[in-house]
Amino acid sequence: MANFNTHLNVAFMVSGTLSLTVYKAGLIDDSGFLVCVALGTIGGLLPDLDSDNSTPIKLGFNITSFIFAFGLVMHWRSDLSLLALIVLWLAGYGFMRYVVFYVFTNMTVHRGVIHSVPYMAILGLGLTCLSYYAVQLPLTTSWFYGLFLFGGAMVHLSLDELYSVNLSNMKMKRSSGTAMKFYKHDDKWWYLLLYTLLAILVYMAPPFEAFWAQLRDPTPWAQLKVGILPELIKSMLQ
Ligand SMILES: [Zn+2]
Repeated sequence: MANFNTHLNVAFMVSGTLSLTVYKAGLIDDSGFLVCVALGTIGGLLPDLDSDNSTPIKLGFNITSFIFAFGLVMHWRSDLSLLALIVLWLAGYGFMRYVVFYVFTNMTVHRGVIHSVPYMAILGLGLTCLSYYAVQLPLTTSWFYGLFLFGGAMVHLSLDELYSVNLSNMKMKRSSGTAMKFYKHDDKWWYLLLYTLLAILVYMAPPFEAFWAQLRDPTPWAQLKVGILPELIKSMLQ
């Protein structure tokens, strides 16, 4: 298992690089860029959420709750009065920090279940649905948010996998394949529940084809190609 700092740093570097790429290609706006980096980093810490109630995890949850409250207020900033916005800010923060955190840590204490691919897919897809249907963010942004959260979690699981293989070749057979988990027979009822939830979310999810088509559109990538190297290096190459 990789430790907290490794997870934090790698998740930050990977999500930072990827979101900078889509940001520079013009696929997300300024705040979208910031949120994607944050979500990818949070995703990189999420699978160990149940391992303890340590300060870093709580801090991560506080930050998530702040971002959530911020997102809510920014979305309704022109429709609501100041008083209503303050209430929304506090309620949004309280909901994430206390209700969602409580559900996460207490209802799924099962390490095996939370530290798995389907659980993280549920969180990612859930976030996409939430930002598209509830916060009514654009389709592309919503998909990016969900994908960054899920991607960060996959970075976490891959790191754990890598460490379990690298650290001791003796244990390799026993421990490899445990981190990147899709199913475990001992927890079959949990996994049944997870895959049922996942199926519902896949059914409910906003259209993926439109998002995919936008990703495959060559225009933003052509623009990115032009701006990939600093001017100085470009002039030296010529
Ligand atoms: Zn882990």
